[in-house]
Amino acid sequence: MIPLGIGGFIVVALLSMFTGVNFFDILGGGSSPSPDSTAVGTSGRVNASPSEEKMVDMVDAVARDDQELWSQLLGGRYEQTKVVLFRDSIQSACGYAGAATGPFYCPGDHKVYLDLGFFDELDRRFGAPGDFAQAYVLAHEIGHHVQTLTGTEGQLRNAQRSNPGSANAMSVRLELQADCYAGVWGHRAAQQGRAAAGGVELDPGDVEEGLRAAAAIGDDRLQKLGTGRVMPEKFTHGSSEQRVTWFRRGLESGDPKACNTFDQ
Ligand SMILES: [Zn+2]
Repeated sequence: MIPLGIGGFIVVALLSMFTGVNFFDILGGGSSPSPDSTAVGTSGRVNASPSEEKMVDMVDAVARDDQELWSQLLGGRYEQTKVVLFRDSIQSACGYAGAATGPFYCPGDHKVYLDLGFFDELDRRFGAPGDFAQAYVLAHEIGHHVQTLTGTEGQLRNAQRSNPGSANAMSVRLELQADCYAGVWGHRAAQQGRAAAGGVELDPGDVEEGLRAAAAIGDDRLQKLGTGRVMPEKFTHGSSEQRVTWFRRGLESGDPKACNTFDQ
């Protein structure tokens, strides 16, 4: 999880990855904490703004494309995941996710939770705009799904329990591997002619966008923004430099075997 403060109104959207039908559906009712309450209701469907619809389409396309890749790579071991879009807060099998949670993967229900507000934040606060920056964040979370399916996540949690002193350092390795897995997808999306074949194809400048995003959400940068200090022992995701390095490793190799952050 990437801890960030995110404001905004409550929109919970479920995105179906199989039917291709995008719909916003309020899961939790209640009042809106902000005046921007056009999308808030207590039940039923909600109309998304045009920019949100565009975002939903992007999430849908990337999630399909990335998952197609992983089912090729993992074969029968791969299970499709779903992406749950939300704003502000949501209840998952991993507990309550408040406004400060940001995007996350929940191993308990095998779903990716994407906070749309985080995308705004990526642009405004971290200076990492662009759809590929967003795609990188999504592919990183799907990377966690892959780690759960391959057993890496479970092994790591066990190791963390038996050795709590190095829990953060181990978490960094898991996160950097997810960055590398996002790069593996980026490698595929960088192949020319993919758009014509119905896949996701990167535009010029997209790789830079993704690398900028990886740098923007390094623990050192976030800590500096949050507290003005950098505390490497508290890193859970890796420094900006580490995140860029591993994302790039995936991008350049296109091979998950290049993502063994545990042997470094
Ligand atoms: Zn992560």
